[in-house]
Amino acid sequence: MPTRRPALRGNNESNVPGLYVIGDLAGAPVIKLAMAQGVAVIDHIAAKPDARSADPNVYDLIVVGAGAAGLNAALAAQDKGLRALALEKGKIANTIENFPEGKWVYAEPDSSPPKGKLWLDGARKEDLIGRWSQIITENHLDVRAEEGLKALERQKDGTFRVTSDKAEYRARRIVLATGQRGNPRKLRVPGEDRERVYHRLYSPRHYKNEDILVVGGGNSAIEAALVLAERNRVRISYRASEFSRLFKDNDRKLNEAVAQKRIELIFNSNVCEFREKEAVVEVDRGGHQERLTVPCDHAFVLIGAELPVQFLKSLGIRMENEWTGSLWRAAALAFATLLGLWFLGGHAANWAGLPLAEVPRFAGVLLAAAAGGALVALGFRGDRYAWLGLSFLAWYTVYGVKSPGAGAEFWPYRGWGFQALSLFGRPATFWYTVLYTTLMTVFGIQAIKRWGLDRRDKFQIWRYISLLSFQWIFFFLIPEFLFQWAIKYQWVGERLANDPAFAGQAWRSYGLVYAWPLFFYAFFYDPAKIWVLWGVLLSFVIIPLFVLFHGKRYCSWICGCGGLAETFGDRWRHLAPKGRASMRWEWMNLAVLIFAAAVTLAMLLRDGVALLRQPAAWGVNAYHLYADIWLVGILPVTLYPFLGGKVWCRYWCPLAKLMHLFSAAYTKLGISRFRIEANDKCIACSECTRNCQVGIDVMSYALKQQPLDNATSSCIGCGICVSVCPMDVLSFGPPPKLVQISATRN
Ligand SMILES: Cc1cc2nc3c(=O)[nH]c(=O)nc-3n(C[C@H](O)[C@H](O)[C@H](O)COP(=O)(O)OP(=O)(O)OC[C@H]3O[C@@H](n4cnc5c(N)ncnc54)[C@H](O)[C@@H]3O)c2cc1C
Ligand code: SF4
Ligand code: SF4
Repeated sequence: MPTRRPALRGNNESNVPGLYVIGDLAGAPVIKLAMAQGVAVIDHIAAKPDARSADPNVYDLIVVGAGAAGLNAALAAQDKGLRALALEKGKIANTIENFPEGKWVYAEPDSSPPKGKLWLDGARKEDLIGRWSQIITENHLDVRAEEGLKALERQKDGTFRVTSDKAEYRARRIVLATGQRGNPRKLRVPGEDRERVYHRLYSPRHYKNEDILVVGGGNSAIEAALVLAERNRVRISYRASEFSRLFKDNDRKLNEAVAQKRIELIFNSNVCEFREKEAVVEVDRGGHQERLTVPCDHAFVLIGAELPVQFLKSLGIRMENEWTGSLWRAAALAFATLLGLWFLGGHAANWAGLPLAEVPRFAGVLLAAAAGGALVALGFRGDRYAWLGLSFLAWYTVYGVKSPGAGAEFWPYRGWGFQALSLFGRPATFWYTVLYTTLMTVFGIQAIKRWGLDRRDKFQIWRYISLLSFQWIFFFLIPEFLFQWAIKYQWVGERLANDPAFAGQAWRSYGLVYAWPLFFYAFFYDPAKIWVLWGVLLSFVIIPLFVLFHGKRYCSWICGCGGLAETFGDRWRHLAPKGRASMRWEWMNLAVLIFAAAVTLAMLLRDGVALLRQPAAWGVNAYHLYADIWLVGILPVTLYPFLGGKVWCRYWCPLAKLMHLFSAAYTKLGISRFRIEANDKCIACSECTRNCQVGIDVMSYALKQQPLDNATSSCIGCGICVSVCPMDVLSFGPPPKLVQISATRN
């Protein structure tokens, strides 16, 4: 999926100081947003005290790429009095120039006006480019077409030496706006460089009465095939067994053309060679490979574009999610830090003849500080494994101390960690809740700004207010304060207030909102049976009803686990694993659900069935250790900055799975009132897919205009895909009408 990008700071600066990346390459998927980035980056650069160079041989700015983003940036720079030059390896606005003849260019999103000097309105591509050329001429903009960037070198004085394929320049800053559509992907087979093999279709009307082979299964390939089939015999070679990302309209037209024998489909096939007037295609017929020779006067290989990763790396730019440094070094330093903490705690034991117990505490402090400090230093030098090590250290400490409790802490904190973190007369568990609520509040406010206020999106504002309110009220104030006051002032009645079993179980108030099996202990350890009653009502009546109307929105509107992911983990949402392989691992939450159900059953029956007593006790301990500490705490939160925030919710949460089963069943019965719909304006920018925290390929639903529901996906209804879509393609659709069911029955 084309969701990989250069790693950038908030102001679009890359890891190379002074080198900025904007436009399509930086995630602005449509012309209007690319233009806006062009203006914003210049505002930022022009405000810098050293924006202007005193040396006349040094440009203030070189813009690379004269597309929507680059041209608008160069124009804005000129307006701010910066000396700017734009280099363009092809024609001006090359990407748009390459659109098929007469293509209508949309000026979405409607909600924001175009920024900067370039003109933008819905128009034919030829008219748009005409207007842009006029603006360039009127403004005397220095654009050097047919002159691509070859290399960049940052000098000691902070300026750049810029080598193009025609000349060499110097500049204080570089704005890279090279897009990501300019490098057509190639098959890399013999004969692909022949004159009759193209990677774009400019003028379909040039071809008549020919045998044409189109390679590819995306919308560009199918649209090309359809238009060529009007006057030619067309074959489509596609490597898969079906087209999975076609616009609904394209799908319909293709089926018609195939039925009328204007197009022949060759699925499960790979082109091996292009020859003079023919192509060799290898077809997989259920494991048996067969070679076909098909007539081919012209071939169009339309298999998408390639992000120029090597080119970007040659400029020194780091890509998102790129692992740097050494895993072993990070692991060794993390272990050394823990070892130091073991000595510091004074509970070290001798091992294999080594007198570890004798190591003085100050040596432990030195070791922990040196190893931990080395991790931090490596992290700031760009070592991503070092950040992984630090993240693990932090969350292993938090959960390994707080969850097992005093005396049962994980190594190296056993016997002292809980006490050490119990500050100002409050236990470590209280400070954990304070930390959790603080993280959610601080990052939640940022998320409200990012998704709600900046985009004027009321849905997201209410969603985050809901998440923060549930956290503050039900997962902080009630368990930490109100429950105790309810006992003290007998708000729960005299009988319960005086029942020590009830009064000592403040932790059970989490069960007010957390349903079984997320709140695993809902049905046991409750002599008063009040909580059991509520647990049954919540888990088997309220939650199923909620799911009927809202799908799995509990995960994105209510739950505290999901809340931390949506707030603290939000900035890494685009790193969520994507693709089919990542989805296959979602079976794990079914395994956790089955385990939780089995242990719960054993616990409920253990008094009557003596045989179950031991397995039930073992099961509860195992569930507490693996699910409550490792799977809900240490592992997922450690992985937030690397795999996004939803690792627990997506792969291990048994309640998410239970809700999914309910929601999928409702959808299949036609009574679910939750789904996302798409209109026909998708431009395949993949922003929705990129930002889906549970790794759903939203774009493939949008292209096919197929409803996205819980029968076909694990959507949690966060609505971020709806918010980020620049073409306003997606919306929470009206529920399917119950009448439809009766109509089908009739
Ligand atoms: C089929 C299709 C349909 C689309 N329809 C629409 C639509 O209707 N409305 C809409 O708003 N958006 C649409 N888009 C998206 C739109 O094209 C992009 O969002 C927009 O072009 C991005 O602008 P940009 O300046 O970031 O990149 P680009 O427009 O891609 O410009 C990058 C420029 O950099 C140049 N370049 C690359 N490498 C170098 C180098 N080494 N040296 C110098 N120059 C270099 C390229 O030649 C190119 O001119 C569509 C895209 C596609 C593929
Ligand atoms: S598909 Fe959209 S609404 Fe559903 S989880 Fe992904 S981003 Fe959220
Ligand atoms: S639906 Fe997704 S891929 Fe299509 S335009 Fe919207 S964000 Fe882009």
